[in-house]
Amino acid sequence: MKIVALAGGVGGAKMVDGLAECLPPSDLTVIVNTGDDFEHYGLKICPDLDTVCYTLAGLANSETGWGRAGESWRTLDEIKSLGDEAWFNLGDLDMATHMLRTQRLQRGELLSEITGDFCKQWGITVAVYPMSNSPVRTFIHTRAGRRLSFQEYFVRYQFKPEITEIEFEGIQKAQVPEAALDAIDKADAIIYCPSNPFVSIDPIIQIKAIGESIQQKKILAVSPLIGEHALKGPAAKMFRELGEVPSALNVAKHYRSNLSYFIMDNQDKEQSKTIEGWGIMCRALDILMPNRTQRKRLAREVLTFLEKSV
Ligand code: GDP
Ligand code: CA
Repeated sequence: MKIVALAGGVGGAKMVDGLAECLPPSDLTVIVNTGDDFEHYGLKICPDLDTVCYTLAGLANSETGWGRAGESWRTLDEIKSLGDEAWFNLGDLDMATHMLRTQRLQRGELLSEITGDFCKQWGITVAVYPMSNSPVRTFIHTRAGRRLSFQEYFVRYQFKPEITEIEFEGIQKAQVPEAALDAIDKADAIIYCPSNPFVSIDPIIQIKAIGESIQQKKILAVSPLIGEHALKGPAAKMFRELGEVPSALNVAKHYRSNLSYFIMDNQDKEQSKTIEGWGIMCRALDILMPNRTQRKRLAREVLTFLEKSV
């Protein structure tokens, strides 16, 4: 069964890691959000892409969910000692990725090509593509009237500001890698990983070329919320600030127009009746993925459900 998974960082990486354990490499393609990308110290940083790749390569820091295992921080310490605030954590190993990527982009290479080469070096056998080769930038508009770049909002201000609106600058001109669109074309199903709906999945599916091509497909979403809580990050807070109760039901409602299948946690099972009333088939499972065994277990259950349903 050919699958295209759409992913942000931490939640996306966990699901994709499980799927990669269950599917032959040629049957899985991952399209990753690049709305969080930014430039810092002259380096082009792609947080979600790197989280997905480091996780698939077994190089990720399993405690933080982002960055590299066995990381050291000598360069950043030195940057701090030179008087910089150093609000964005960049480890020494991680920095090598950004340095080489920046240099190759400056030479005119495409982000998708560079990512493909890095994946080869890291021994990643599934195809991983950025959602766009041209910049798409997520901006957060706040109640206080500010327009913050995503990493400022997320890391510098620790997602404390109240959001009123989310903007994806450059989305109309997004250049989706041709191979990513081909993979969608050939896919039996699309999986929205349990990523943040507003800032990880929306920027991907709001790109016209992607939105239109997935419309012909069966789409399954896995909830990033259990009860009223996100396991990490601002997803639940964003639902509240945008006027909705954070819940599996409202995740399904958010994706409703295209969705065929929805995976929620066992504890939210009672919400499935309403969701099924919208013509979306539901399955309640244990959707917590604290380790690789659980990622694989959930991926296997999701794929079994899809095989029976598609
Ligand atoms: P980010 O780009 O690093 O913020 O990561 P994503 O957008 O891909 O994922 C963030 C979401 O992942 C959060 O809303 C979390 O609730 C969700 N998440 C993290 N771990 C798990 C897990 O084990 N299971 C599920 N279902 N969701 C998770
Ligand atoms: Ca992200």
